[in-house]
Amino acid sequence: MAQPTEGRAPAYIDTTKASIARVYDYALGGKDNYDVDRETIERVRQVAPEVNMLAIDNRAFLIRAARFVATQTSITQYLDCGSGLPTAENTHQVVQRLQPEARVAYVDNDPTVIAHGQALLEDNEFTRFSAADIREPETVLADPTVQGFLDLDQPLALFQIGTIHHFDDAVDPQAIMARYIERLAPGSVVAIAHFFDPENADSELARRMEQVFVHSPMGSGRFRTHAEISGLFPGLELVDPGIVPCYRWWPDGPQLRTEDPVQRCIVGGVGIKR
Ligand code: SAM
Repeated sequence: MAQPTEGRAPAYIDTTKASIARVYDYALGGKDNYDVDRETIERVRQVAPEVNMLAIDNRAFLIRAARFVATQTSITQYLDCGSGLPTAENTHQVVQRLQPEARVAYVDNDPTVIAHGQALLEDNEFTRFSAADIREPETVLADPTVQGFLDLDQPLALFQIGTIHHFDDAVDPQAIMARYIERLAPGSVVAIAHFFDPENADSELARRMEQVFVHSPMGSGRFRTHAEISGLFPGLELVDPGIVPCYRWWPDGPQLRTEDPVQRCIVGGVGIKR
C-alpha cells in the first residue's frame, strides 16, 4: 500500500476532523488523508486486521456494478451519490470507456472532495459535480447541475455505494431511498453497497467494527442486517444474485483466495425499477 503523505491543505479544509472521504482514501491506499483520518482505520484494525478489505471490496463492487449497467442495460446516465475523492477507475471512466457519451453526475458534500475532487471528477463535457447532502433526495434531484444535465424522465443508474452506512437511523435511510426511487423512471437501476451484520458467527466482528467506527474520529459506520438493507430497495426487483458480500457479486472469475471474515461484513446489490 502507498504510504500516505501529509501535504499542505488549503485553509478551509479542517485537518483536525476526520472526513469520511479521506478515511476511505486511506483505506484504499491513497495519499489524500491526514493523521485524524488514519486514526479511524488504525483503531478498527485493532479489532479487524483486514479492515482495508471493506474499502477495497466496496470499490471493486462499484466498478463491476458500473460495468454491468453500461453493458447489460440501455441506461446512459448515472447519478453517483457520495463520489468520494477521485481515485483509480472513477464511475465516469468505467462507463465512458464503454459508452463514450454516458453522462455522470457526482454528488458529495465533503469539503475535501469539493475542493480537490470537483475539477478532477468534472473532467469532460459528460461529467458534472454537485455539492449537496445526499440525505435530501429532493434537493439533490432539483439541483440545476443534476436536473439540467440528467433527464429524470428517462431511466438512470443511481449509485449509493459506501454511503448509506454513514447515515444514522434518525434520518430513516429506507425512507430516503423510497423518495429517490419514487422519482426514478421505470427501467432505472439502483446499486447499493453497505456495511453488513450477517446475524451469524460473524456478527460479533461486525458489531465490534461498528462500535469502533461510531466512536472514532469519523463517527459513523452502521452495520445493518439483510432485512434492513433489503428495505433500501423498496419496490425494486433485485438482480441475481441479490444482496451478497460485495466480492461475490459477479466476480471477475473464480475465487481462489481465502476470504477474510471482514469481507463477509460488506454487501452489495443492484435493483431494477420495473
Ligand atoms: N461511492 C464511492 C465509492 O464507493 O468508492 C465513495 C465512498 S466513500 C466511503 C463515501 C462518500 O460519501 C464520501 O465521499 C462522503 O463524503 C460521502 N457522503 C457521506 N455522507 C454524505 C452526505 N450526507 N451527503 C453527501 N455526501 C456524503
